Amino acid sequence: MPDPLLVINSAAELRWANRAAERLFGLPLGEAVGRSGLEFIHPEDAQLAALSMASVIGKEVGTLLELRLRTPDGWRLVEVLGSPFGDDILLCVRDITARRRWEIANDESARFRSLMHNVASLTMLLTPDGVVTASSGALSRILGLDQEWLEGRPLGDIVDDADRGRLVEALHEVQAGDGSSGQVSLELQLTHANGKTIPIGFTVTNLLDDPTVEGLVATGHDVSELARVRENLRSSNSVLAATLESTADGILVVDRDGRITNSNRRFSAMWHLPAEVLASGDDDQALACVLDQLLDPQTFLARVQELYAIPDAHSRDRLEFKDGRIFERDSRPQSIDGEIVGRVWTFRDVTEQVRLEQDLAYQALHDPLTGLANQALFRDRVDHASASLARSGGTLAVFFIDLDDFKNVNDSLGHSVGDELLIVVSERIRSQLRTEDTAARLGGDEFAVLIPDLGDPETAALIAERILAALDQPIVLASKAISARASIGIAYDTTGIGAHEVLRNADLAMYTAKASGKNCYQVYAPEMHSAAVDRLDLIAGLHGAAGRGDLVVHYQPIRELTTGRITAMEALVRWQHPTRGLLAPGSFIAFAEANGLIDEIGDHVLATACDEARRWTAGFAGTTAPAVSVNLSPLQLMNANLPGRVESLLDATGLPPDRLILEITEGALMRDPLAAIERLQRLSDLGVRLAIDDFGTGYSSLSSLQQLPIDLLKIDGGFIDDTLLSSGWSLAQAIVQIAHGLGFTPIAEGVETQAQVDALANIGCELAQGFHLGRPLDAAATRTLLESDRPSPIL
Ligand code: C2E
Ligand code: CA
Ligand code: CA
Repeated sequence: MPDPLLVINSAAELRWANRAAERLFGLPLGEAVGRSGLEFIHPEDAQLAALSMASVIGKEVGTLLELRLRTPDGWRLVEVLGSPFGDDILLCVRDITARRRWEIANDESARFRSLMHNVASLTMLLTPDGVVTASSGALSRILGLDQEWLEGRPLGDIVDDADRGRLVEALHEVQAGDGSSGQVSLELQLTHANGKTIPIGFTVTNLLDDPTVEGLVATGHDVSELARVRENLRSSNSVLAATLESTADGILVVDRDGRITNSNRRFSAMWHLPAEVLASGDDDQALACVLDQLLDPQTFLARVQELYAIPDAHSRDRLEFKDGRIFERDSRPQSIDGEIVGRVWTFRDVTEQVRLEQDLAYQALHDPLTGLANQALFRDRVDHASASLARSGGTLAVFFIDLDDFKNVNDSLGHSVGDELLIVVSERIRSQLRTEDTAARLGGDEFAVLIPDLGDPETAALIAERILAALDQPIVLASKAISARASIGIAYDTTGIGAHEVLRNADLAMYTAKASGKNCYQVYAPEMHSAAVDRLDLIAGLHGAAGRGDLVVHYQPIRELTTGRITAMEALVRWQHPTRGLLAPGSFIAFAEANGLIDEIGDHVLATACDEARRWTAGFAGTTAPAVSVNLSPLQLMNANLPGRVESLLDATGLPPDRLILEITEGALMRDPLAAIERLQRLSDLGVRLAIDDFGTGYSSLSSLQQLPIDLLKIDGGFIDDTLLSSGWSLAQAIVQIAHGLGFTPIAEGVETQAQVDALANIGCELAQGFHLGRPLDAAATRTLLESDRPSPIL
C-alpha cells in the first residue's frame, strides 16, 4: 500500500508496520517494534492521540485525527484513521503536509481551522441552552477530555456542581441583551478527565444572530495560576491583618495626602482616639487629638511637618504624655515598587521599660537606704561644680559628716534601729539644704554635702551649725530617745581642684573635729595634712609598742564616799611615745582595735595590772587591799580564749580573783549576746568581778543586764551633771535606785567637785571616781598613794 499502515496494541506499542510506514519513520521494522507510538507524536498532540485511541476501541472506525509526527525529515502533518483490529488497533496514516501547505496557501478558512485547532485558549460553540456543538483542541490539552465525547453534551456536564447555577445565569444574561455583541465573563470550575477541577475564566459571546455562527461562543483560559496567586494574596493579607491586630504596637498608615489609609485597634486604644476620628480618615483631626495629650506638642508637630516635607525620611524618638506614659515613635516611608506612597507610624508604649531604666539608673547613683546620692554621684556632682568654678569663679563647699558613736547604737539596739537612725539623719541633713545642694551618703555613718555656689564662705559654717543642731534633736527609736551627734569637716574649693581633693580635705577637717571633742565642725586648714601623716606614723609605731615596753599603765582610785577608802584602782593604759610623750588611750585604742592590735595591748595591760595589784597593800590596818579594775575592749570579749587567759594570769601572779574587776561596755554585750553571756559566766565563776562601764551611753536596758553576772555599774560621767546638783529629781538618782534594786553596786564616774560628791552621797551612791577623788597615777606613785593614804570620810 502506498500509505503507511501500522498496528499498535492498546498500550500504543508498535507491533507491525508496512514498508511505507518504515519509510515515513525512517526506521526498519525490526528496530521499531515494541516502541511506543506516542514517542513519535508531537507532545501537544499526544494527549489528543491517546484519547482518541481509547475511543477507537469498541468502534468500527474512529474519527479522522490530525497529528504532527516526528520523522527524519522533521515534523509532518498526518491524518490518522484508527480502527479496531482484534485486540489491537490498525492505524492508517496519510501524510497531508504537502496538501495542507497547498490548501493553506490558497484557503484562509483552512488556515483558520488549523489555528482554531491549535490555539492555547479553549473555544466552544454552544447552543442557546448550553449544549456543546464544537470545541477546539485545547479542550483535550487543558481538560484531558475527548472533543468527540463532549460534542452534543451540555457544557454543564463538565462544570463543577457548585458553579452550574452560575453557568445557567450567564447563558441567560448573554441572551437577555438586545442580542448584538452580548458578552458575559465568568469563572467556572471545570472537571478534568482525572476528576480534579480546573478554574477556567470564560467569556461567552452571543453570536446567535450571526448566520455564519448561529450560536454562543465560549472562550476560556486556564486561570489556575491566577487563582493560586489570588489565594496566596488572600492568605498573606489575612496573616498581615492578624499580625497588625495582634502586635502590641499601635500602627497608623497615612498616604501622601495625609489621609489615614490603615490603622490597627491598638493604635486607637493607645491614643484614646474616638472611632469617628479614625473613620473620617482625616489625619488633621487625629493629629489634633494626639497633640492634646502630649507634654511637648510643639516639638512633635514640628517633627511631623518635617517628615511630611521629606517623604523618604525615617525617624524615631520618644513622646512623653501628660498622663506620664512614654511612647517610642517610629516613622518610615511606605513604598510600592520603589515609589513612596505614604508613611507608616508605629507607636510602642515603653513606659514600663523607661521606668525600669530610670530605676536602674537611680539605683546605680543613690543610696538604697536613705535615697540620698551615693558616693559615685556625689563625686560626679562635685567634679562638675568644681569644673564650673574653674570657668566662672565662685566658691563651693563640701561637708564631710561622720556620726559620733554610731557604733554604739548599732551594737546595742541592733542594725534595724541603726538603719532607722541613718534615715532620720539623712532627712535632717536634707532639711537644712537648698534644692541646688546635694546631700549624699558615702557609706556606713558617713554623709557628705555639696554646696555648689557659696555666696559668702561664712554661710557654710552657719549651715554646718544648723545641721548639728537639727541632728541633736532627740530621736525616739525602739522607745529610746537617741541623739545623733556628728562631726563635720568643711572644705572649700575656689580654683577647681576637683572632687578627690575637696573630699579628702573635708575628711581631714572632719577627723580634726572628731579629735577636738566631737559634735562640732572644723574648717579644713593645710596643717591638717601633717596631722594626718602623723596619725599614720602613730599607727606604724603602735606595732610592737607593748613588747618594747612603751605601754605603761596608770591607776585611778575608786573611793567609798562615806569613808574615803580606796576600794579599787582603775587601770588606764598610756603610750610612752618616743617623740611625743605620754599619749592618752583616746588617741590610739581605736586604731589598735581597727588594726588587730587590741588583743596584744589588752593582754599586756591585764598582765601588768594583775602583777601590780598583787603588790598593793591596804593603807591602814584592818582593811583589805584595793582591787584593780581593768578595761576590756569589746573585741577582747569576743575572743573565746579570754576566760582561760584570765585564769592563767591569776594563777601566774597569785592575785586573788575577787581583787580583779573587768570593765565592759554595753555595746560589747550586744554584738554576740549568747557568747558574751557564756564568757561572762565563766569569768564570774572564776571569782572575778564584772562591771558595766560608761553605763547610760549604750541604750541597753537595765532589765537585760539583770540576767548577767554583773557586780558593778559605772555611771557615765555625762550623768554627773546639773540635774544632779539641783535639789529635785535627777537621772543619776534614778539609775542609782534601779541599780540597787537589781543588786548592782553603782559607781559614779567623772566626779570633779565636792558639790558632786555631796549630791552623790545624797542620792545613795556609795562609790565614785574622778579627778576630785584622785587623778590617774603611774605605778610608783600609785604604790606611794596606797601606802600613805590615810582614809578619812570625804563628806
Ligand atoms: P573610761 O574607762 O571611762 O576611763 C575613764 C577615763 O576618764 C580616763 O581617761 C580617765 O582619766 C578619765 N577621768 C577620770 N576622772 C575624770 C574626771 O573627773 N573628769 C574627766 N573629764 N575625766 C576623768 P583615759 O585614761 O584617757 O581613758 C579613756 C578611755 O580609754 C577609758 O575610758 C577607756 O574606755 C579606754 N581605756 C583606757 N585604758 C584602757 C585599756 O587598758 N584597755 C582598753 N580596752 N581601753 C582602755
Ligand atoms: Ca573604764
Ligand atoms: Ca568609764
